[in-house]
Amino acid sequence: MNHTKNFLTANFLTANFLTANFLRAGSLEAAVASARFAQALPAYADEFGQLDISPESWTDVPLLTKEQLIEGVTDAAPYGRRLGADLADIAWVFVAPGPIFMPFTASDIDALAERFAGTFRSCGFTSSDVVDQTTLYNWVIAGTILGKALEKVGATAVPGGSGDTQRHIEVIEGLGVTAILAFPTFLVHLLDTAAAQGRTLPLKRAIVMGELHDPREKDRIQREYGVSVREFYGTADVGPVAAECGVEPGMHLREDVFVEFVNPRTGEPVTGASASEPAELVVTDPVRRAMPIVRLRTGDLVDSVTAEPCACGTATPRIGRIVGRVGDITKVKGMFVVPGSVKSVLLRHRLVTKYQLVVSRDAGRDTLVLRVEGSRPGGWDRILDEVSHTLRVRCESEFVERIEGDAILLDQRTT
Ligand SMILES: [Zn+2]
Repeated sequence: MNHTKNFLTANFLTANFLTANFLRAGSLEAAVASARFAQALPAYADEFGQLDISPESWTDVPLLTKEQLIEGVTDAAPYGRRLGADLADIAWVFVAPGPIFMPFTASDIDALAERFAGTFRSCGFTSSDVVDQTTLYNWVIAGTILGKALEKVGATAVPGGSGDTQRHIEVIEGLGVTAILAFPTFLVHLLDTAAAQGRTLPLKRAIVMGELHDPREKDRIQREYGVSVREFYGTADVGPVAAECGVEPGMHLREDVFVEFVNPRTGEPVTGASASEPAELVVTDPVRRAMPIVRLRTGDLVDSVTAEPCACGTATPRIGRIVGRVGDITKVKGMFVVPGSVKSVLLRHRLVTKYQLVVSRDAGRDTLVLRVEGSRPGGWDRILDEVSHTLRVRCESEFVERIEGDAILLDQRTT
């Protein structure tokens, strides 16, 4: 599908989301204000130089990588060279792996909690819900910020935290918990464990951070357990970025984060994305001041963006699946291949199986083989053609009993 064409024909949407030939969501003015604020801080000052930051010059603002963000912190312990608040105004510090100390002012935290609360409301949580929050509380931001967000929704929060499945089951049953916040794998594990014990849990809604491995699980969970599941996508740095509305496929971008899309190889802004040409998400936090986040490359690749109207009435564009990380991209026969794109094709044919792309070199030429676990399904030739078309590289296939490990790319080229 040609998404560029969709944008250009839908003029009223073009005006909002596609300006100066790049695709975005959120307030550019707020992003500019954040970047101007950041420009006064040593690390950003080095990177931005004397650039006159304005909506017109926005795409000239240098992109920030996660590595740069971490370096900027470790250079000048404990908070680094992007600290934008007086020490007395730092209300919370979270400890991310590294360890990296992540400072927040009270208003930074409040705005982030509001962003999560908005996401929860859009995913169907209400003030009547009793919610088991099943992610980690110690050190990291998760438990604290999700708890604050639930309070803003007006829901009753139960700080269950991570692990201890049996205790979660007993509390959910005993207290009449109606909703749950969880990682996808934990949700599936919890529901299946309860069912194996012959228990029927009172849960009605679940919000999961990330994608269920198998999209059909969502239907199964609804059918077998009566729980409706919504997925959202977010990053540790800016919180929720997009969430499912449950009406049409994809996740609506939030308007309270500034989101852009770039070509993962060149960093240039793009006007759309596809399975063959995934786009990298770039985020700017419009309000955070203790450690401003400006044009941060998330490293996450998305296989579609559409601004076509959604029946739910939300106007923001929807992104498709996260098909992988920038680091997964590899060059085969002169083409850049995104191994995660194969999954999109397989899912279209309702094939959920483990696979691995094997790149080798034979007589100086690259060869690409799609190794698939299990037996050859009907109509495979057509599916394989579609995979080749998506990757833009001719791909052979082989079926094996078992694929070891989780790597979806095995590069056997030695030169
Ligand atoms: Zn929608």
